[in-house]
Amino acid sequence: MPSDHSETGLELRTVSIRLGGQELLAVDLVIAPGEIVTLMGPSGSGKSSLLGHICGTLPAQFDVSGQVVLNGRSLDGCPPQDRHVGILFQDDLLFPHLSVGGNLAFALPASVKGKAKRRMLVENALKNADMDGFADRDPATLSGGQRARVALLRVLLSEPCALLLDEPFSKLDSELRGQFRSFVFEQCRKNRLPTLMVTHDPEDGSAAGGRVINLA
Ligand code: ADP
Ligand code: MG
Repeated sequence: MPSDHSETGLELRTVSIRLGGQELLAVDLVIAPGEIVTLMGPSGSGKSSLLGHICGTLPAQFDVSGQVVLNGRSLDGCPPQDRHVGILFQDDLLFPHLSVGGNLAFALPASVKGKAKRRMLVENALKNADMDGFADRDPATLSGGQRARVALLRVLLSEPCALLLDEPFSKLDSELRGQFRSFVFEQCRKNRLPTLMVTHDPEDGSAAGGRVINLA
């Protein structure tokens, strides 16, 4: 985690997203370090677009006003790779041509130097997810739950200062879902990540235990 003395969380200051002249969504919100805020709303209401805006990947046809501020730094105009914002999607998006360890090492910042050090960070991350010894495995040989955990580890290894969750539990069956969800929330809190979770399942919001925002 990059050390940051002004850890004020993720602020969405009167952010409004418009498409084709119509407002999709407006939010005004501060998410504290380690806090998990849930965002719910109908399909097409702009939830993923908001996460894309925070990441810096929203296409130009959207009009956005307001400010996104992370730990006191405005992210507006900042390239996606310099934002320190991690995102997890419904699909794990693991690279099929890389091993599990290769997928994880890919996310490590370039500032982490040395093969041995990079390998050690990858192995420690796997240990932390009860996946000791999985570095050389082909992702295709993992269970759904293991793949989900690797996807989360990959985001965490990129040293984010905030985490966005775009329905990452929706494809998992209920038992796995509960387990993976607890693991994600535990990591958010441990790493003091301000977290914004989009979900359709009210149980995700209750499990997160934080504020729930319902878009009308
Ligand atoms: P949600 O995640 O709440 O279901 P989205 O943010 O994905 O909603 O979509 C909001 C609106 O923006 C929808 O009308 C959708 O069709 C439109 N939209 C999403 N992505 C794009 C895009 N890349 N280009 C144009 N319109 C888009
Ligand atoms: Mg969406």
